[in-house]
Amino acid sequence: MIPMTDSANNLLYRAQQLCVTRAVRFTPIRQQIFLLMAQHNAMISAYDLLAQLQLLEPNAKPPTVYRALDFLLEEGFIHKIESSNAFILCPHFGEKHPSQLLLCKSCGGVIELHNTEIEELLQSLADEHGFAITTKTVEAHGICADCRE
Ligand SMILES: [Zn+2]
Ligand SMILES: [Zn+2]
Repeated sequence: MIPMTDSANNLLYRAQQLCVTRAVRFTPIRQQIFLLMAQHNAMISAYDLLAQLQLLEPNAKPPTVYRALDFLLEEGFIHKIESSNAFILCPHFGEKHPSQLLLCKSCGGVIELHNTEIEELLQSLADEHGFAITTKTVEAHGICADCRE
């Protein structure tokens, strides 16, 4: 069993409650992936997740990770970072929110913003072009404050 930090524990607990409410199956392997992501304070690829999972479950195979990630995405527990082909746990799961991600290309850290004005502006600009947006996450790449020091 991996050591749990308080906050990872709390996040897992909240997610468990939500899954009970929604009557969806939060299987042990899904919870394991969730915890790994809760403890990993940066974006992570499916490949790296598999490597970490295999330290705990040597028989884990790629489909195991992909299925778990699909579930976590479906339930809104994680965000997919399209431009980096990676994933990040969202501590704000359970509530629908606009999402803008600042992605550090040095440490992989992610700052999640929830600015509704950016969201609405993007929507109205898209409307002007008759464009129907399906995924609204804005992804910006750069260097975080810690890495700039
Ligand atoms: Zn989020
Ligand atoms: Zn950084």
